[in-house]
Amino acid sequence: MTGIVYKSTGSWYFVKSNDGQFHQCRIKGKFRIKGIKSTNPIAVGDKVVFDLEKKGDEETGVIKKILDRENFIVRKSVNLSKQTHIIAANLDLVFLLITINNPPTLTAFIDRFLVTTRAYRIETVLVFNKIDAYAIEERAEILYLKDIYEAIGYKCIEVSAIENTNVVTLKELMKGKTSMFVGHSGVGKSTLVNAIAPNLDLKTQEISEQHKQGQHTTTFAEMFDLSFDAKIIDTPGIKGFGVVDMNKYELGDYFPEFFALKQYCKFNDCLHLKEPHCAVKEALEEEEISWSRYRSYLQILEGEEETEHFRTDVWNEEDD
Ligand code: GDP
Ligand code: ZN
Repeated sequence: MTGIVYKSTGSWYFVKSNDGQFHQCRIKGKFRIKGIKSTNPIAVGDKVVFDLEKKGDEETGVIKKILDRENFIVRKSVNLSKQTHIIAANLDLVFLLITINNPPTLTAFIDRFLVTTRAYRIETVLVFNKIDAYAIEERAEILYLKDIYEAIGYKCIEVSAIENTNVVTLKELMKGKTSMFVGHSGVGKSTLVNAIAPNLDLKTQEISEQHKQGQHTTTFAEMFDLSFDAKIIDTPGIKGFGVVDMNKYELGDYFPEFFALKQYCKFNDCLHLKEPHCAVKEALEEEEISWSRYRSYLQILEGEEETEHFRTDVWNEEDD
């Protein structure tokens, strides 16, 4: 049988088969996926092949195979071991929640995040939340940011989770897809998800789960089916994700507006720094490229220049 992993506790995987039934599965032997050193071989969102085994009157599954992943996102390990933890696989859409204040979301954070999702090939939508609460200057800031990001191809939506403004637009985008919501602590992720799917009540679920298992804050990702043909992956305590290894010459490729101009740079390994006849720098002078985007590019590049390969890192667990 084939199915999708909805939840994992480390030793058990809850797999929904194509006929809509849930099966508790485990893996037999060692699963190794080439090129990935991860603490968990199988993640939420993975498509797997499994067999059912009957022991007494209990029927459980044994996972035989993981189907190729469209993408996957990882978490940086807390210690220095090279191991990573795969948070989720096969995501279609990520909503990055942004607030201007309470808390502020800086463009450096937004741009790092967008580099990461582009490297992972995951469509990203920018969601400006709390529009009910902004004065004129903050409104202007949103319009300014929307101009920048819409011009380079990112969908931007203004919402109010509390007043339900434009929540229906988000639901339209989520249809038929697997989505995830990320952003700084306090931007309104839980409020928004509860506005989208009132029956889900993620917080409550999380607490009862902890209570049941008597364990403290180890947070597992979990996928939920929503009533309107959408799937959502909830990762409590996660504001972003990251750790993409890349070469410094690749970085510009994940800034779509730089990538589009790269072919017009004199050197094909142009880093868009001080090279002559650089189309990116020329566009910047003409204000066709945003200075804040270029600044983020420099920050990522300079911050990591010592090593040839580096990691973009927007991953953080909530500090609180
Ligand atoms: P999370 O940490 O991202 O899950 O954020 P929460 O959903 O817990 O929200 C943090 C705070 O922001 C709470 O006090 C919410 O009531 C508030 N909040 C969330 N969405 C909105 C909104 O659309 N407008 C306003 N004014 N406040 C909001
Ligand atoms: Zn250049």
